[in-house]
Amino acid sequence: MLRRSVRQFSTKPALLTNYGFVGLGLMGQHMARHIYNKLEPADKLYVLDVNPQQTKKFVENVTSQNAANADQLIPLDTLKDFTKVQPDFISTMVPEGAHVKSVITELVGHFKENYNPNIKTTFVDSSTIDIPTSREVHELVKESIPEFDFIDAPVSGGVAGARKGTLSFMLSRDTHADIDPKLTILLNKMGINIFPCGARHGTGLAAKLANNYLLAITNIAVADSFQLANSFGLNLQNYAKLVAVSTGKSWASVDNCPIPGVYPDNNLPCDVNYEGGFVTKLTRKDVVLAVESAKANDRFLMLGDIGRYWYDKACERPDIATRDLSVLFEFLGDLKQAENGDVIDVKRK
Ligand code: NAD
Repeated sequence: MLRRSVRQFSTKPALLTNYGFVGLGLMGQHMARHIYNKLEPADKLYVLDVNPQQTKKFVENVTSQNAANADQLIPLDTLKDFTKVQPDFISTMVPEGAHVKSVITELVGHFKENYNPNIKTTFVDSSTIDIPTSREVHELVKESIPEFDFIDAPVSGGVAGARKGTLSFMLSRDTHADIDPKLTILLNKMGINIFPCGARHGTGLAAKLANNYLLAITNIAVADSFQLANSFGLNLQNYAKLVAVSTGKSWASVDNCPIPGVYPDNNLPCDVNYEGGFVTKLTRKDVVLAVESAKANDRFLMLGDIGRYWYDKACERPDIATRDLSVLFEFLGDLKQAENGDVIDVKRK
């Protein structure tokens, strides 16, 4: 039988005991692994993915790497099982707003049926989703069980940051002092930066979308600039080194340089055929979310629609959509201007 564990002989003040994690995909499996590895002796971690194979694989992976905490890790079969263990925090790391809404709506329904006034669960959503859905879910939680909370806590740092435990979290809180210290403990297990972004729910996501819009647009500009340099016959490795110390410098041109061989020790996606990293289709997803949010906010974005157009085009090709966003350099190299002015992708029939 699943039981809520109680920390008994700690010399520290009574801290949180039970964590839940939903969504063990590319990001979630690493985030949950860090929680698992850093569990206090009386803590428990309950995990669930909609794909039971994913849950099983996660448990096998982390316990084979570190057996010490194995009895503190409990895979769950259904969302309803969370009500039997009632975690202090349940993190969600799922693809889209619809998934977040469905998971939290179901959880709230089960928690309402099994209401226990001693338990105050906070849902911590680190998925990148649209702000209106996140606000809707926040209101649903507060209206259904006022003692519960739902916080948007999206992340930056990508799969590499999740793997290393160096993520940055963006939170809808005004200042660090407004963040529950227990939540800070949880987030510090997975990341190294916590940025309070504003008092209103959704400001964490707003910061995430504004940043990823900037990333997506600079990524296009970097690919375009390198293709321009290529058309001039420049040595692209030398050009990349020049950009790295010049005014064109950016994360997309240096830390995620699209030119193979410039930083051979940095394990960049460009050195492994642009595999891994932050895939182009997720970049497109974030551009679409940013552009839609800007429209809902009556904010004109100079490069929003054009950026979205090119990510839409790039993602029509599965070989581009599923590789790191720096592959846009290769994609733009496949585009040629015909005599009538049309842009043709030479790799597409
Ligand atoms: P992913 O598709 O690899 O993983 C998502 C996981 O959620 C899958 O294992 C899936 O089975 C599970 N899932 C889906 N619906 C579910 C449900 N209803 N209940 C339980 N589990 C469910 O995606 P990812 O790359 O891990 O990204 C997750 C989120 O994080 C997305 O919103 C993404 O935009 C965001 N994000 C991703 C990155 C990245 O580099 N991959 C970086 C920052 C943020």
